[in-house]
Amino acid sequence: MELTQIETQDHEQVLRVRDADSGLSGIIAIHSTQLGPAAGGLRMRSYADEAAALEDALRLSRGMTFKNAAAGLPLGGGKAVIIGDPARDKTPEMLATFGRAVEALGGRYWTAEDMGMTPADMARVGTETRFVAGLADGPFASGDPSPVTARGIFNAIRTTARHRFGSSDLAGLRVAVQGLGHVGLHLCDLLHRAGAELIVSDLNDSAVTEAQARFAARVVAPEAILTVEAEILAPCAIGAVLNEVSIPDLRVQAVAGGANNQLATAGDGARLHARGILYAPDFIANGGGIINVATEILRIADHPSWVAEKLGELDATMDRTLTRAAQRGVSPNDVAEEIVAERLRHDAA
Ligand code: NAD
Repeated sequence: MELTQIETQDHEQVLRVRDADSGLSGIIAIHSTQLGPAAGGLRMRSYADEAAALEDALRLSRGMTFKNAAAGLPLGGGKAVIIGDPARDKTPEMLATFGRAVEALGGRYWTAEDMGMTPADMARVGTETRFVAGLADGPFASGDPSPVTARGIFNAIRTTARHRFGSSDLAGLRVAVQGLGHVGLHLCDLLHRAGAELIVSDLNDSAVTEAQARFAARVVAPEAILTVEAEILAPCAIGAVLNEVSIPDLRVQAVAGGANNQLATAGDGARLHARGILYAPDFIANGGGIINVATEILRIADHPSWVAEKLGELDATMDRTLTRAAQRGVSPNDVAEEIVAERLRHDAA
């Protein structure tokens, strides 16, 4: 296994990981360890080439610095990617070799599950490194983070509703949920119990059927969910759904969801603001997942009460972000980035 340095502009350390025997080819990107060890998941995808993989790793690891700081965690930002089709190319040897690469970093980077990985895969990575979280078994195992992610998004939706409509009561509000995966279905459950009317879409028919049966959700085609009339849109599928093409056609008054990197560009936050659509910054709204994972990294004994406390702080950060944005008449995304920069400066001082 070979680890070689890649020079980049604003990351602390970026490494190419190669191993001819197992076929491993990937990147480990450490954006910042200022607040603590860099933490962020391992993603496996059929990237077009190494440049595309590197770009994804750089962008995602920077995003983790923001997410971890916004959640008030003593963790920095990192991310790893493996180049390949998870359905075809993934092997136990490849995962174990990746584990050896993580171990070689001595704890500067903690890995966890992301797209293309399963809990069983992470257990395989964990045969070669101590620095893996999100495991199903073990003394501090935190398991599937999705229910906690969904709880954090639900809180964010209530707080956004209070700022936009004057009340956090969701009864009777129409919420359009894009994506009914691990996060989306848990979120729908919470919204349904709170009395919200659900409009949903997914590419997967069985998820849609389940939402219809359990939550009396109205189903729309995937290409229609971004233009349905509703009070709130909750993107819970893919990134970059808020862009120069989609934003002019939105028929909602607020966006608060769990997908990572919902804004295609920084300018799209301003574009939503100009349309009077209140945007709950994604890296605050979806911080519940990393809070759950952090219990394993930080070896928190009293898991439920620590998670509840951190979710409360996350919600307070969302509230402060939306309050400051309203006072200054700017996009909440700009304010959220400022709050993170303040936390990083404060820590450095
Ligand atoms: P998932 O893969 O379980 O679910 C995603 C769902 O979205 C799938 O059912 C898929 O069919 C659907 N989908 C994909 N493209 C779609 C489209 N164009 N229209 C409608 N549906 C579409 O993933 P997840 O774990 O539920 O995560 C959802 C999002 O939340 C991702 O962006 C992820 O990065 C983010 N996120 C997840 C967590 C977590 O705890 N799982 C934490 C933080 C952020």
